[in-house]
Amino acid sequence: MTLANGTHYLAIPGPSVAPEAVLRAMHRAAPNIYTGELHDVTHSLVPDLKRVARTDQHVAMYIANGHGAWEAALVNTLSRGDRVLVLATGRFGEGWGEMAATLGAEVQVLDFGRRNPVDLAQVEEVLRQDKGQDIKAVLAVQVDTATSVRNDIKGVRATLDEVGHPALLLVDSIACLGCDPMEMDAWGVDVVCTGSQKGLMTPPGLGFVFFSDKADRARESANMVTPYWDWRPRKRPEIYYQFFCGTAPTHHIYGLRAALDMIHDEGIEAVWARHNHLARALWAAVEAWGAGGPLEANIADPASRSTAVTALRIGKPHGKALRDWTETQAGVTLGIGLGMATDEDPNSEGFFRIGHMGHVNAQMLMGCLGSIEAGLTAVGVPFGPGGLSAAAKVLGQP
Ligand SMILES: *Cc1c(COP(=O)(O)O)cnc(C)c1O
Repeated sequence: MTLANGTHYLAIPGPSVAPEAVLRAMHRAAPNIYTGELHDVTHSLVPDLKRVARTDQHVAMYIANGHGAWEAALVNTLSRGDRVLVLATGRFGEGWGEMAATLGAEVQVLDFGRRNPVDLAQVEEVLRQDKGQDIKAVLAVQVDTATSVRNDIKGVRATLDEVGHPALLLVDSIACLGCDPMEMDAWGVDVVCTGSQKGLMTPPGLGFVFFSDKADRARESANMVTPYWDWRPRKRPEIYYQFFCGTAPTHHIYGLRAALDMIHDEGIEAVWARHNHLARALWAAVEAWGAGGPLEANIADPASRSTAVTALRIGKPHGKALRDWTETQAGVTLGIGLGMATDEDPNSEGFFRIGHMGHVNAQMLMGCLGSIEAGLTAVGVPFGPGGLSAAAKVLGQP
């Protein structure tokens, strides 16, 4: 017997739930790539993507996942031997820094551990020590999906400005663009990377790099750039073919068009508010459960938590047991613990993550939370009472 048959909720932090409207838009015969509707639809994506990142500057689109967007961001702005400061708050910050080092940058990592946001005082100290202002770029991850911490990107720019440091600010918003607020131009971000499969609700396969005029000036001298990853032809293509340096991702273009329509019909600020409200309900449940058992949010301070993904600690082997139960018995797939391995828990079995990004509403969240509570009972993990009503109470508030 299983209680899992019915509509499944893929509650992992990417790929996120694909809306029916996106899937329907993609279900079509291959379109002509040389002329006609596909060209118009592709051009229409540009302003609507920029409205999500809140920029009037530039965007380049790639057939790529988030790693592709990372690489594009680096090679268009850096030269071999350039100094880069990486602000690491989990696996993804580390990974982006490793990529920069492999490409030939000289990487300095400021590691804030797995349970804390970036400490701006430490960033300031490092920037002040850089008397020659050799650091070319600061790499920050807005939401590290492994730890679910949300960093103060506006604060990183303010710190650079306070020190009078000219470094570019490169931000990975792959987990959270379209969920947590991003104000690229107002915050002074030079590069924002993202992918299609998280807040943008479109299957994996498209990577996006938003960039400022300042970042584009850095492109003049960047010596890592290769023809495929060059953002110049993509930002203002003279012929359609240049948008994607080859055949366009035809079906993804239609899917993304539908997703952007959904986002802008709702309004980006309303989308952010929905994520915030749902996340606060989730955290209320976690707090109630944690009062009588081992479950706790990985990030203690709600002000530093993402509203797109929540990483939870529950102790080995309960995380894995719970995920197995909710997937096979309740129809909810929870995310694995990522980058949380320790000697005692090499497979991160004491962790799980809930993806609540993109096409998620109140009833899906309550179903997910109810399934988790049932799973806690099933696997025999103690928990405090009242989690579901605490969540419902938050949802019922304006
Ligand atoms: C998902 C994610 C990535 C990697 O994206 P892929 O599409 O898997 O390459 C990088 N950074 C963050 C913060 C992410 O959430």
